[in-house]
Amino acid sequence: MQTQRLRIAIQKKGRLAKECQELLKRCGVKINYTGERLVVHAENMPIDLLLVRDDDIPGLIMDGVVDLGVIGENELEEVRLERIKLGEPSQYQLLRRLDFGGCRLSIALDKDQNYNGPQDLAEQRIATTYPNILKAYMDKQGVNFSTCMLNGSVEVAPRAGLADAICDLVSTGATLEANGLKEAEVIFRSKAVLIQREGSFSEEKTALIERLLTRMQGVIQAKESKYIMLHAPSEALEKIVELLPGAEDPTILPLAHEKSRVAVHLVSTENLFWETMEKLKQLGASSILVLPIEKMME
Ligand code: ATP
Ligand code: MG
Repeated sequence: MQTQRLRIAIQKKGRLAKECQELLKRCGVKINYTGERLVVHAENMPIDLLLVRDDDIPGLIMDGVVDLGVIGENELEEVRLERIKLGEPSQYQLLRRLDFGGCRLSIALDKDQNYNGPQDLAEQRIATTYPNILKAYMDKQGVNFSTCMLNGSVEVAPRAGLADAICDLVSTGATLEANGLKEAEVIFRSKAVLIQREGSFSEEKTALIERLLTRMQGVIQAKESKYIMLHAPSEALEKIVELLPGAEDPTILPLAHEKSRVAVHLVSTENLFWETMEKLKQLGASSILVLPIEKMME
């Protein structure tokens, strides 16, 4: 059932929800999230948001029920492998990787246990929420194992005597440490991604997706960039510009009352560290300002 409005599935609550909402807001999509609705309508664009559990998002895309979705690559890959196994549709298109939701899927075991490599996991029982990704990895290593499927509290499985090791998502490692476990093997690195269903789209939808992507590019690029202004002695200009990351094309302006110094303005592709600022100062730069950028379009 095709609707005129672009349907985007995002996580309702959880680790991806806030940043998805923030990204859409920065892209100029106005949405009122109050209430417990499954579908919310954008006020200023033909976009409907589906607020669901993240587990459902890959399937909604692969079945062609929604047009776009934001999902962690770990969940996406797990569902894709499961669907291939079941002979169900498993296609999608990756539109872009996003700048949040970073984590890794790792095998962890008792911190006192010796570990020299995947072969040490042979014939062990590993508790996980991601049996398909784990199996794909272990098959590649040629190691036999058994799983214990758990949808939550995976990290307590070894202590509870349910498994010898676990395979779970890690970001800082604090949860592992709190449970007396150590990270032994990273098997998958994940970020949130924007994906699209297969099949054709109306001209209007195609144009809208293009627009959203351009805006997302601008939002993400702006977050990673800084606007830098400083005053510099003309003779040190070359050396100063060399120190600035991504400064291919700085704007050089004369100063009103000083002939030997100029103002330099530029967009830097990364943040300026204190160390660099100190070096700039040693080269004679002064009045160094580093400003955040809200939006950009090339
Ligand atoms: P839902 O109720 O929607 O099913 P969930 O409990 O399955 O939510 P969350 O814990 O909200 O999922 O995590 C969603 C996604 O966030 C993960 O699949 C992963 O891609 C990403 N993520 C980032 N950091 C972490 C982390 N430290 N632990 C778990 N997931 C993380
Ligand atoms: Mg989930």
